Amino acid sequence: MANILAVGIATLDIINTVESYPAEDEEVRALSQRQARGGNATNTLVVLSQLGHHGCWAGVIIDEPDVQLIKQDLASFNIDFSACTVLNSGKMPTSYISLSKESGSRTIVHHRDCPEFSFTDFQKIDLQPFDWVHFEGRNVDETLNMFKWLKQHYPDLPFSLEVEKPRANIESLFDYPHFLMFSQQYALAKGYETASALLQALPTTISASCTWGELGAWAINNANIVSSPAYPPANIVDTLGAGDTFNAGLISALLQQKTIKQALTQACQLAGHKCGQLGFANLING
Ligand code: ADP
Repeated sequence: MANILAVGIATLDIINTVESYPAEDEEVRALSQRQARGGNATNTLVVLSQLGHHGCWAGVIIDEPDVQLIKQDLASFNIDFSACTVLNSGKMPTSYISLSKESGSRTIVHHRDCPEFSFTDFQKIDLQPFDWVHFEGRNVDETLNMFKWLKQHYPDLPFSLEVEKPRANIESLFDYPHFLMFSQQYALAKGYETASALLQALPTTISASCTWGELGAWAINNANIVSSPAYPPANIVDTLGAGDTFNAGLISALLQQKTIKQALTQACQLAGHKCGQLGFANLING
């Protein structure tokens, strides 16, 4: 069992399942609605906890009614949120998600009135007990300071960075982490047509993965490219958070000193399994 800190956000997800995605100005009735905790870093922690690890979240908590559902969910996976910054005004980031039954697509409108977790607050965390730190690729300037701090004060502590969206100057973060986790969205936005094209364009010192939906995932280590197919479940039920699940599987396997090929396969198997169920609960034994 490892002790893992994840820096990023928790959201309230309001998920409306609709028959098909509505046209602009159309009014449709949802087939069902559920509310759940979301957010990449906390999704990854919830999966890591089910893989037998202990998770700690560093992010911002706004003390408002919607945070209760988020806290309850994290507590049910024994995730420690004592490293979070707690504020009295604002609103927890909220994602309004339309999940189309027809196409399986998930269209998201996101609202936030919540500051990012700061370098000042990161510095206050005692990182000695941790075996790995995972970061969401957001808030680039503060994150860069956190990386420099880690390298200076905890040179042996491995850390990973999820690069999901192209953000201004996010490339300035790439030289520091032990492992980078890219999304198809980032690769396409940067003009790469395949995962391996993105990975091959990186400096050879970088170890990284890149997921590609139902085609699986690719990774590079010591300039060596490996790949894994996807492992589709009998029925695709919910792909929301497949990438976060993949990241958890990869971190867990890397902590267990698995080879990059084994780690990639394990992560794709877990992410595929997740696509066959709603949400993240009972992922391992469900
Ligand atoms: P994100 O959730 O960030 O959009 P992807 O869609 O690339 O990420 O998915 C991440 C991983 O989840 C993929 O590498 C794959 O292993 C798995 N996955 C995603 N969609 C499917 C699918 N339809 N069938 C099987 N596995 C999938």
